[in-house]
Amino acid sequence: PCTDFDKAYFHCYAHVGIHEEMIKDSVRTETYKAAIMHHQSFIEGKVVMDVGCGTGILSIFCAQAGAKRVYAVDASDIAVQANEVVKANNLADRVIVLHGRVEDVEIYEKVDVIISEWMGYMLLYESMLGSVIAARDRWLKRGGLILPCTATLYMAPITHPDRYKDSIEFWRNVYGIDMSVMMPLAKLCAFEEPCVETITGENVMARPHVVKHVDCYTIQLHELESVSTRYKFQSTMRAPLHGFALWFDAEFSGPASSTNNNPVDGFRGKKHANPDEALVLSTGPEDLPTHWQQTLIYYFDPIEVEQDQIIEGSLTLSQNKENHRFMNIRLVCSSGGMSYVKELVMR
Ligand code: SAH
Repeated sequence: PCTDFDKAYFHCYAHVGIHEEMIKDSVRTETYKAAIMHHQSFIEGKVVMDVGCGTGILSIFCAQAGAKRVYAVDASDIAVQANEVVKANNLADRVIVLHGRVEDVEIYEKVDVIISEWMGYMLLYESMLGSVIAARDRWLKRGGLILPCTATLYMAPITHPDRYKDSIEFWRNVYGIDMSVMMPLAKLCAFEEPCVETITGENVMARPHVVKHVDCYTIQLHELESVSTRYKFQSTMRAPLHGFALWFDAEFSGPASSTNNNPVDGFRGKKHANPDEALVLSTGPEDLPTHWQQTLIYYFDPIEVEQDQIIEGSLTLSQNKENHRFMNIRLVCSSGGMSYVKELVMR
């Protein structure tokens, strides 16, 4: 059923600004375009479903790549504009805009390709992947293609003294006035919820840990209700630990190219041995910035960490019981004989 929360969610996507931001994110949009062109020989003459088409941009790329028919589905009122865009580009005979939830629409054939841009902050926020799963199970032909095919969520401990200085230390001396009594409130307001911000590789204190790997062909809905992982980092530096960063990659290789992952001809481990390597949408601190940035979970106070010190614990991301679009986060961390627990909600 379409809840009031869903209605509010789809209402957000009726605004032009959110689509403008996504489309202007050239890392995102160019990677999708390149992926569609990369799979052109598969897409040509085939039937495609675009789950959450927004303005219709990915559907139109697919039509340009030679798709016979594209079902462009969106529950938001932006579907009205998508339909106009399709007509204005003389593609109405091949791109069919369906204004409704993908869970509810009816079409009279199965599809060869499912394309969707479903990834939220820290991959799973928004919980749109469930709709891609629903479309896959109902409409995708055996042997069909899903773009992207996999996605991986990462985490790493971070140090970010400048951020702490800007928001918290700032209150120590404000135009010569000691306002440090403001600091508890400043910490609460700044770090109570996850922050979507861009950091760089220099903030990252250890090799990232895989929180969850999603295979879009096989993932099941129940796996997304709660994702849990245990982590163990060894700090590469002596620094104050300010919290943790989360980010994701999405890959666009197809069923046909998965054999390229096999180590052949001694290419194993060599960079660029896999021709699909460029078809990864990466949103990490070391990559070009995207509108997803990174999702940061800050502690109220930094934890001093020595080089090589172990930072270990667990992370649980679970869909909020009331509003499944929200995410409950439980982060447990032990380091240097101390333990820290942080629980927060991403709304
Ligand atoms: N494909 C577009 C928009 C991506 S944003 C682009 O790449 O620019 C995700 C879109 O999916 C939003 O417009 C949202 O309204 C839509 N969406 C999310 N869940 C949906 C569902 N269950 N059924 C139909 N549309 C959905």
